[in-house]
Parts: sequence; structure tokens; C-alpha cells
Amino acid sequence: MKPSLQISHKPAWLKIRMNGTNNYRKLKKIMQSEGLHTVCEEARCPNIHECWGKRKTVTFMILGDTCTRACGFCAVKSGRPEGLDLDEPTRVAKSVARLQLRHVVITAVARDDLADGGASIFAETVRAVRRKIADCTVEVLPSDMGGVYKNLQILMDAKPDILNHNVETVRRLSDRVRSKAKYDRSLEFLLRAKDMEPWSLTKSSIMLGLSETKEEIMETMDDLLANRVDILTLGQYIPPSKMHAKYLPVIKYWHPDEFAELKAIALDKGFRHCEAGPKVRSSYHADKQARLLRPDVD
Ligand code: SF4
Repeated sequence: MKPSLQISHKPAWLKIRMNGTNNYRKLKKIMQSEGLHTVCEEARCPNIHECWGKRKTVTFMILGDTCTRACGFCAVKSGRPEGLDLDEPTRVAKSVARLQLRHVVITAVARDDLADGGASIFAETVRAVRRKIADCTVEVLPSDMGGVYKNLQILMDAKPDILNHNVETVRRLSDRVRSKAKYDRSLEFLLRAKDMEPWSLTKSSIMLGLSETKEEIMETMDDLLANRVDILTLGQYIPPSKMHAKYLPVIKYWHPDEFAELKAIALDKGFRHCEAGPKVRSSYHADKQARLLRPDVD
């Protein structure tokens, strides 16, 4: 394994190439006109031109733009959300159809203020997309819903193709990195989702660069596998602002060769698919995963 670069400047392999295609511009216009939010934009994702421009995949963020949590790595605004937009599922579905998306990821701000954690609107969005465009695969990326499993059941009843819930980091760093969420609760959340709907694939993600060791990453892989997770993604943590970098600095930039080695370890351990690389995000190449692992999907 090549030695990794310790924190200094962002390495060359993290530079972003901007190439706005027609698809990208079209998508941006639709999002604005429908008043919809995407994680792709809110999180300043480095893959936006590839995903929007070439792959036709988008990660919608529903239930508003204000999160009831304040995780140290996340750029989404936190505070007290106002009300609920009951028309949102219809507008998301309409946009998916207009864009003829092949795969859609639906995530949401955490809504700990709602009795069902937003599960009903989440589930309705999955169903609305399916009604509009039957062959679009649907991935959901919820918070842990406070560990209220009757709310998870509401979501799993909509039968998402992929249930994605991120542990984000290794056990030792979890409390510092994730506001209110608990490492073990996330593992249980993933297992319960699989028990409720074995037909759905489960997936989780780890951000690297926060001082975790290779051994800790492998322990996290084992924990996820013990809870029947099918898909793993590994990417480099990049603070979205100077303020985030102060609170949660990058301790190390993992080298692309190290990502390749971790991917080989993950597959060897038993994940059915692993996406790993410096620019990989939880929803990166998600369309490919859905089609690879679900033989019933074209
Ligand atoms: S990787 Fe995910 S968040 Fe980033 S642009 Fe692609 S779909 Fe959006």
C-alpha cells in the first residue's frame, strides 16, 4: 500500500472537472422551477456534473431544507423546520418523469419534530415515483428516525429497491461526527430494515479521513456485514466550509490505491458490491448497484 498523504493541501486526485452538459443545465432549471432541493447541490458534491450530466441520477432532499440535527460534517442548514409540504411527493415524481431518470435517491433532512419522523411523506414519494415511471429504481436514504421502528416499517412498506442508511464513520468517532445518532442504533436500523423487507438491498457508507485506522474500518465492515448489509461505499471526507473544517478537520487524505485495497477487502469479506474512491459519495453510481444486484431490474 502506498503511503497516504497527511493533511496539507487538497491532493490533485480531488480536483473537480466542471463540464456543464445540456442534461445538467436542464436538470438545474427543473429543480429551481419546482422548488425542489437536492443533496447534490446542498452538499456541494464533487460528482454533480457526472451524475446530472451523464448518468441521469439525482439525490432529492425532501421534507424541507432545515434539519433538526447538526452533524459536524454536513452543510445542510439546521434549525427548527416549518410545516410540511404535502405536495412534495408529486413534484418529485413529476420531475423524475420529466427527466426520465433511471435511478433516483430520495433522502431527507432529519425531522425529529414529526411524530412519524417524516416516514409517511418519504413512503408516499417512493410510491409517487413508481406510479409515474415504473422502471426507475428507487433508493431511500433516511436518518435513523430516532430508532422508532414503526416509522421505519411505514417506509419499508413502500418497498424501496435500496434502503441506504449511513454509519458515516467508525465506532470510536461516531459521537463526535454525528449529532444525536448512535453507531449501534444505525446497525440495528439496517438489520431491522432487512428483516422487514428482505427483497430490498441494504447499503451503508463510511467517510474516510477523520483519523480512523485501517483496522477500525475493517471492524466497521464486519459490523455492517453482521447486520446483513449488502452494499458499502467508501469516500474521502471533505469539509463543506472553513467552519466545518475547524470543527471536524481532515486528518488524512486517503490515497486512491488505499481505496482500491479497501474495496478488495470489502468484497473479500462478503459485501455484494463496494464503491470506493476519493470522490465516492453514498449515492455515487447507485444506478449501477441497483441494476447489478437486482436481476429483476433491466
Ligand atoms: S454522488 Fe450523489 S449527491 Fe453526488 S451528485 Fe451524484 S447523486 Fe448527487
